[in-house]
Amino acid sequence: MRKNLFLVLTGLILVILTGCGRTIAETEKDVLKSTNLIEETNAEGKPNRKLADTYDVVYTLDEVMTLVFEQILPVDETIQLLDMLDKYEIKATFFGSSEQLEMNPEAAEEIIKRGYQIENHAFYEMDLKELDYDDVYRLIKETNDIIETITGQQAKYVYVNSKKEYDDIHAVADEFAMSGVINYSSKINFSDPEDERKIREEMRNAIARGGILAMNPDHMNAIPYLMEAVDEVDYNFVLLDDLIDLDQGRKPFAEIPGADAIQVNPNMEGIEPFLHYQEKTDRREVALTFDDWASEAVVLEVLDILDKYNIQSTFYLKAKTIHKNPNLARLLIERGHEVANHTYSHLDSTTISPEELQNDVYKAHKIITEAIQEQPTLYFRPPFGRIDDQSAQAIAAMGFQALGMYDISSYDWNSEYSKEDVINRVMTNVQPGSVIVMHILNDIHTPGVLEDVILSLQAEGYEFVLTSDWIE
Ligand SMILES: [Zn+2]
Repeated sequence: MRKNLFLVLTGLILVILTGCGRTIAETEKDVLKSTNLIEETNAEGKPNRKLADTYDVVYTLDEVMTLVFEQILPVDETIQLLDMLDKYEIKATFFGSSEQLEMNPEAAEEIIKRGYQIENHAFYEMDLKELDYDDVYRLIKETNDIIETITGQQAKYVYVNSKKEYDDIHAVADEFAMSGVINYSSKINFSDPEDERKIREEMRNAIARGGILAMNPDHMNAIPYLMEAVDEVDYNFVLLDDLIDLDQGRKPFAEIPGADAIQVNPNMEGIEPFLHYQEKTDRREVALTFDDWASEAVVLEVLDILDKYNIQSTFYLKAKTIHKNPNLARLLIERGHEVANHTYSHLDSTTISPEELQNDVYKAHKIITEAIQEQPTLYFRPPFGRIDDQSAQAIAAMGFQALGMYDISSYDWNSEYSKEDVINRVMTNVQPGSVIVMHILNDIHTPGVLEDVILSLQAEGYEFVLTSDWIE
C-alpha cells in the first residue's frame, strides 16, 4: 500500500514538474519570439525558418547551361581567363570571397567592365561543418558588402561547394533576400593534361541541359575542350540569372503521384515474380530496349535515330550519375519512351543480399522518379541479365510488375565485336516477340550500328513495339 502511494505521489510530482517545465519554456519562447530571437518550430521541433532555394541543375529541357567560377584570381590571370571567355563568347559568373575581392579589386573591376557577374563565395575553402549561424551571417554579409562596394550591385547568389545542405546558409541567404544558394551539376577539372581522351570524356559527361558547371579558374585550360563538347551538341551558355529564370520547379519525390508504388519490402512470402524474356506471338514484332546511362551527346544520337524511324523503346536506367543530368532522363519521356529501373550501383543482383538489392533498387527508383517527375514504368532489369529466385522475389516484393529480361543481347557494348558482328547476332537470333537489348554507354558501337539494326529488322518485316504493349 505504502509503496503504491509512493509511486502515485512520485507520478504526480513528475506530472507537475513536467507541466511546469513546459509552461516556463513556452513563456520564454513567447518572449523570445516577440523579440524575434527564436525561430518558429514545426511539429518535429525542427526550425521552421524560410530557406532560400538551392540550384545545382535547373529543371528545363532547353539546351542551355551556365558556367560559374569558384574564385577570383589576381588581375593578370583574370584578364587571361576573360580573354578566353570572350573568344568563345561565354558569359560566366564569378564567385569570390571577401579576401579575394579585397586583394584583387582590379580583377573585379575588369570582370564587371566586360559584362560578367560577381557573386558571393564567402565560404571559399572553408569547412562548413565548423560554422555556426553567426559565422554564416557575418561571412555572407561581409562578402555581400564588398561586392556592393565594388560593383554597385547587390549579390544575389551564394555558392556552396558541397552536396550537403546547410540550413543556416539557406536561412541567411533568405534573410538577405538573395535569390538562391548555388551548387553545381558537374565540376570541370583539368586534372591530367596529358590524357586528352580522358579530358574529352569528362567534358562530354559534364554537358547537361539546365546544368550549372563549376570550375576553378586555375583549370581554365580545360575551356577549349569544354567548348568542343558543347559544340558537339550545339548547346549555349547563358548567364546564371537567365538559367534560373527557366526553372519550372521540380516536385519533391513524395509529391509525385505514384512515387510510392515501389517500396522496400522484407516480406517476400508467396510472391510470384513475373519474368518476361520474350513475348509469345506470331506477329513479326520486336521490342528494342536500352540499358544504362551515357552522355547527352550519345543519348541524343540514339534518340534522333529512334525518332527518325518513329520507334519507341524502353530505357532501363542505371541511376548512379543521373543527378548530373536529370533533365536528360525527363527528355526520354518527352520523346515518347518508357523509363524503367536498372539499379543504382549496377551490381550483380545474385551476389548481394535481398536487403542490399532492395535498398539499391529503391535508391534508383527515387532518383529516376525525381528526374522524370512521374512514376516510372514499373519494370526492373537486372544488371548483366543475372537473376536468381531469391533476387527475383525481392524485386517483385517491392511492387515491380515485371522483370524485363531479354532473349537477344546485341553485344553492342563489346569492342571486340564489329558493326557486322552486332547486326549478325541480332538477325540470326531474332524471332517474333524478341526483346533486344542495346546500350546507352559512352564510346561503344550503339549509335553507329543502331540504324543498320533497325533497317535489317524492317527488311525482314519486323515492327517495333514497346515492352508495355505486351505486358499488361
Ligand atoms: Zn547494365
